Formats: sequence, C-alpha cells, structure tokens
Amino acid sequence: MDFSLTSEQQMFRQMFRDFAARDVAKAADQADKQEELPARLLKRVAAQGFMAALAPEEPYGGVGLDAVTYTLLLEALSAECMSAALTIHVHNSLGLRTILRHGSAALQEALVAEMAAGERIAAFALTEPAAGSDPTCLRTAAVRDGDAYVLKGEKSWVANGGLAGVYLVFAQLDSRITAFALPAETPGLVVGGRQKTLGLRAAAITRLYLNDCRAPAENLLGAEGQGYKIALEALDFGRVGLAAVALGVGRRAVELGVKFAAERVQFGGPIGQKQAIQDYLADAAAEVAATEWLVRHAAWLADSGKPFGQEAAIAKLFASRMAAQVTNRIVQVHGGYGYITDYPIERYYRDARSLEIMEGTTQVQQIVIAGGLFAGTNVRVRP
Ligand SMILES: Cc1cc2nc3c(=O)[nH]c(=O)nc-3n(C[C@H](O)[C@H](O)[C@H](O)COP(=O)(O)OP(=O)(O)OC[C@H]3O[C@@H](n4cnc5c(N)ncnc54)[C@H](O)[C@@H]3O)c2cc1C
Repeated sequence: MDFSLTSEQQMFRQMFRDFAARDVAKAADQADKQEELPARLLKRVAAQGFMAALAPEEPYGGVGLDAVTYTLLLEALSAECMSAALTIHVHNSLGLRTILRHGSAALQEALVAEMAAGERIAAFALTEPAAGSDPTCLRTAAVRDGDAYVLKGEKSWVANGGLAGVYLVFAQLDSRITAFALPAETPGLVVGGRQKTLGLRAAAITRLYLNDCRAPAENLLGAEGQGYKIALEALDFGRVGLAAVALGVGRRAVELGVKFAAERVQFGGPIGQKQAIQDYLADAAAEVAATEWLVRHAAWLADSGKPFGQEAAIAKLFASRMAAQVTNRIVQVHGGYGYITDYPIERYYRDARSLEIMEGTTQVQQIVIAGGLFAGTNVRVRP
C-alpha cells in the first residue's frame, strides 16, 4: 500500500502552502475581528483557481483536483484561517461538486463557469430551525406549478449566506426531500441576518428565507424525491474535506504550542523543558499524525471510486475531536496568553469547536459508523 504523494501532489501542496502563508495568513486575524473575509482575498483565491478546485478543466477551465490533492488545499488554508477554508470547502465540496454530479446540462451551462471563476460562490441550505440532525423533518415546502416549482420556507446556519450566488436548497415535495439550485437573484430569496458565532467569525453564516421562490424544472438536482440521497452523498464527501480542515487546524496548533513553549520562560527555563508540557505536545502531535492518515485514506478511497462513507465518518469524527482537544490543550500550554486575542491560538480554539457540530455532529458520525458495524446483523441502528 503506497500512500505517498505523487510529485504533482507535492508540487500542489507547496503551492497551496505558499499561497496560504503569503495571502491568507496576513488577512486571518483582521478578518476574524471584522467578521468577514476581505473581498481582496476572495479575489486572489479565485485567481488561483481554488474556487474551481473540483471543476474539470474542460469545459469549465477548472483545476480538476483529485480528492487527495483537494484535501491538501483545505489543510493548507485552514492552517492559516479556518473561516477561509470553510468558505472554499462549502463552495467546492457541497456546492460545485453536487451541481456537477446532479445538475441538468442547462443548469451546469448556466452556473458552473461562473462558479468556477469564483463569481458565483455556492451555499448549501439543508438545516432549518427545527431540522438539524434529522433532515427528514424539513418544513421548507416545494410545490409544482406548471413546469416549475415554488419554494417556501426558512433555512438556518447557511455558510456563505449573503456571499453566495447560488443556494442549494432542500425542500419537501409531496413529503419527499428534493434538491434545487436557486440563483441568489431569484425573486423572493432573502438572506437573513448573520448568526453570531463563537468562532469562524469571518465566515458568513446566516439564515435564508424563501418566499415563494420559483425554480424552473432545470434547476432540480437529480430527480424529484432524490434530495435526501443527494444531501447524504454531498455530506460524505464534505466530511472528508472537513476532516482535512480539522487537520490543518490541529497541525498548526501544535506548531504554535511548540513555538510558545520554546520561548516562554518560567522557573529559570523554557516551559518546553517541563515534562507536562512535552506530554501535552506529544499527545497532540500523535493525534494529528493519526488524523492525517485517516484523511488521506478516505480521500484515496474517493479517488479510487470505492465506497468511502464509513471512512469519511470515521475521519470526521476523529479529526473534529482531535482539533477541538488539541487546540484546547495548546491554549493550556499558553497559560493566560492562550486566553487573550494577542496570540492566535484562541481563534483556532474558537474555530475548532464548530467542527464537532457541522456536517453531522459527533453523535451523528457515531450513528453512521455503528450502522456500518452492525450491517448484516439483526441489530438495526437508528438515530
Ligand atoms: C459553524 C456551522 C456551520 C454550519 N453550516 C451549515 C451549512 O452551510 N448548511 C447547513 O445546512 N447546515 C449548516 N450547519 C448546521 C449543522 O449541520 C447543524 O447544526 C447540525 O447538523 C446539528 O443540528 P442542530 O444544530 O439542529 O442540532 P440538533 O440536531 O438539535 O442536535 C442537538 C444535540 O443532540 C444530538 N442528537 C441529535 N439527534 C441525536 C440522536 N439521534 N442520537 C444522539 N444524539 C443526537 C446532537 O448530536 C447534538 O449534540 C452549520 C453549523 C455550524 C455550527
């Protein structure tokens, strides 16, 4: 088994890291304080082709990254700014990839070139105030009207809300979940206020209101009633991406911990000389290393065309916990300096906490994994 990166993947990784260090790092702290990503940064991201990461070269001028290389991109970005990584991840993994897989030819022709150019960022609107872990109780409703559909409802937790030029919306059509792509300019589509978050403050997370929004038939994703399947498929891939985001956060947190522990002097020497601090850092480094292989393996399965839902859930479960725990420990290594905004670790800690919630909570990943474990037995795993 060979999981080493090809020379092309190594070249991409270096390019991603250089871009992140040059363009993302200097914007990250300010973006967190101003609670938005600078437009200049998003333009640079688009100019690098990162909004087209998962679009094919032909006919959309995309970069066509394989899943392994794509995870290297997310890891490099999140090491500097998790809000930026999340924005790009939602656009590519949940938005662009889903439209490429399930959008009609007319829809792809209308949207994908602009999406790939970063002119039409995507958002994924599944969650509602009363439907989080259980999307079967969505209340947003779609009704047929001639050769179109009319959607009415409310969505919450829409990452890229307001920034987006297209919203993937999941709604009940005759009691079956159906997915639609709604351009932002659709009459009746109203982006609500920002949801004030503990972390990820530079990522736009909003409510979304659908007031009798009309979607022509070509804006249907897949067929009527396939929305649940489409959402789960998108989230499987999304979880691999999110695990890569967690990996970047965890790896950088360890680096910040080592740097601080080597510089901070107490009791006559650097605190890094204390066994307790070394233990913290060693445990964190081991968890980061384990995460890397879980991410790499799940992405490799996706690239190989093999089923990867279980591995995606395992990677997401482990990576999100790792990032939350590791950032927590590295705050401890910083002492009081970990609790003030002068040092970046507090931002990483706040941002990382979200990873155990979005794209399926830790408990939902456990249910998915248990479902796989009990497959073929008389035990039925239900949420
Ligand atoms: C930063 C952020 C970004 C997000 N971005 C998006 C987005 O772009 N698009 C989108 O659609 N959604 C998004 N979400 C929403 C996210 O997917 C939901 O918050 C998540 O699915 C959980 O739903 P909920 O918040 O309603 O919690 P609930 O489902 O109400 O869960 C509350 C608690 O109960 C637990 N629980 C629920 N059911 C079970 C069960 N059967 N067994 C055991 N425990 C259970 C959960 O694990 C959790 O601990 C985002 C969330 C966050 C925090």
